[in-house]
Amino acid sequence: MADFIDKTKDFATGAFNTAKLHAKIIAEETKIRELYYKLGREYYYDLENDVDDISGLEVLCEDIKQRLAKIATMKKKLESCEHLKTCASCGAVNPDKNQFCGKCGGRL
Ligand SMILES: [Zn+2]
Repeated sequence: MADFIDKTKDFATGAFNTAKLHAKIIAEETKIRELYYKLGREYYYDLENDVDDISGLEVLCEDIKQRLAKIATMKKKLESCEHLKTCASCGAVNPDKNQFCGKCGGRL
């Protein structure tokens, strides 16, 4: 019985951790969309005003790059926690029993 409770607790903790990881990934993806928007706006401003200094744009690009790497690491971690596969086409996470991506329909 104690063993059963321990296993249930482990399972609940695992589910909680993966839910937290999912939430973190979504937060990073939201942040990246904001950064892309900002990047586009700043690029537009620079072009309209003949600004040659693109260091501001490079900082945004670097931020996006680091967040993408962070997401990739978190997705790998999720895959090992759950039985999951990441779609090579769109990056959506799918159960590893799926043969096709639930988001884009691509082969997994
Ligand atoms: Zn897909």
